[in-house]
Amino acid sequence: MSGPTPTAAALSPVVLYDTTLRDGTQGENIILSLADKLRVARMLDEYGMPYIEGGWPGSNPKDVEFFAEARRVTWRQARIAAFGSTRHRSNRPADDPNLQALVAAGTPVVTIFGKSWLLHVTEVLGATAEENLAMVGDSVAFCRVDDREVVYDAEHFFDGYKADRAYALATLRAALEAGASTLVLCDTNGGCLTDEVGAIVRQVIAEIGPAVRYGIHVHDDAGLAVANSLVAVEAGVRHVQGTINGYGERCGNANLVTIWADLALKAGRETIPAGVDLTGLTDLSRFVAEVANVTPDAFQPYVGQSAFAHKGGVHGAATAKVRHSYQHVDPALVGNETRLVVSELGGRVNTQWRAEQLGHELAGVLDPRELSALIKRLEAEGASFEGADASFELLIRRQRSDYRPPFRLLDFTVLVEQRDGAELRAEATVKVEVEGEVLHTAADGNGPVNALDQALRKALRAFYPELDAVHLVDYKVRILDGASATAAKTRVLIESSSPAGTWSTIGTDTNIIAASWLALGDSLEYALWKGEARLTRRDERHFTTIQGGRP
Ligand SMILES: [Zn+2]
Repeated sequence: MSGPTPTAAALSPVVLYDTTLRDGTQGENIILSLADKLRVARMLDEYGMPYIEGGWPGSNPKDVEFFAEARRVTWRQARIAAFGSTRHRSNRPADDPNLQALVAAGTPVVTIFGKSWLLHVTEVLGATAEENLAMVGDSVAFCRVDDREVVYDAEHFFDGYKADRAYALATLRAALEAGASTLVLCDTNGGCLTDEVGAIVRQVIAEIGPAVRYGIHVHDDAGLAVANSLVAVEAGVRHVQGTINGYGERCGNANLVTIWADLALKAGRETIPAGVDLTGLTDLSRFVAEVANVTPDAFQPYVGQSAFAHKGGVHGAATAKVRHSYQHVDPALVGNETRLVVSELGGRVNTQWRAEQLGHELAGVLDPRELSALIKRLEAEGASFEGADASFELLIRRQRSDYRPPFRLLDFTVLVEQRDGAELRAEATVKVEVEGEVLHTAADGNGPVNALDQALRKALRAFYPELDAVHLVDYKVRILDGASATAAKTRVLIESSSPAGTWSTIGTDTNIIAASWLALGDSLEYALWKGEARLTRRDERHFTTIQGGRP
């Protein structure tokens, strides 16, 4: 960037302003209760967020309650902001319900938005150009009461500037003269291109002067919200508004998580909160997603589960050798991690690296080449270890010369019947061998897989009481493409949990019951191995057994 010599403002830190609780909740998938909003606000405060916009007290009772609660909290860093519009054109400020609610919120900061675009002034508000300037000025002045900090959001600023530059600038001057501390230029419709934003921000700062702080608030409708925020900073802005994970109306707001990392790690900018330690960034992003009950975006820059995932082939091999060969930053800096996706591994190095990530030393214990060949063969038959680390670990373990299975699945029978319109019922019998002893058990279930699970568990629990704590939490079935050379196969993925954690296993077969049987067996074996279970023979009378008998 060429331009004037750096002023004090150019060297000052970039202050982040979070509007997840206000603009973020405009996203159609984002619903936050009062308790949720307080949890998110507390978390943002812990991360040192200097400004948290809590809501629009003039628009709904929940936001009024939020500010009532917020007044009782001792915030570590955060200054809480209440958001609202300029007064109605026919009200005096003191009689305007919206401005009254803003002041009544009792926050140290009030953020007022006003119109910059004449189209909106005349067509939407039904006001004259002069009336709108007065509305901006006296609304800002009114909210300065008790020395409150007033942030002025110039709504539709870029569109307004393009339509009538002098008028858009006049609205900013009206806010500034009335005491606004920050002038925030908004691309409310999110459609501006990056070079326009950069150019307009520079022109505005040149026109109005460096005596005030400038801010940016952009939406992502053109896919440019982060880029437009960064270019605004380059052009002199020192206050950046956005939301965690980019939640917001339509395509969302500028993603503050990405902007924060970009400014601190790429642009070398000092930020508030400080960018020196971003190791909590991934946790913050996922925490907010969890509170909002939104599945975290696996592909989100920096913090997504796939942000540093490498799948097979050349990339995986290169990444295993030199991490930064396919990674733009060290994932540890943002609290994320490198992952190698075990799928169509396509090479010894990848298999070995993934095994090592899971804590298995292959060198000198088993031949990585043989393991890699085995995985390739199983994958060709339809197995997929992606998302099934427990089965992958067992596969490694079973190749070791010192491997001893904790049990052997011998055979099973499943009967399913439905008679006279009654409920479907299923019964399974299984035969399992443990240390030379064969246990034969039966169980009912609400379906064939459930019955099989119950019978298998019943047998094994006679030997391993630890399995009492193991639960099946998810069961997914996928029919693999029948167009492939092999016959159509069924892949079953089972997720299990115990107090020690959760794990996933797979089974693949042409028959769904057989695939489930394999996945269940892996799940229980993994639980025994990880739990370091010891054989503890219990009295099997509780378990309906026929020891060593014929079926
Ligand atoms: Zn917005």
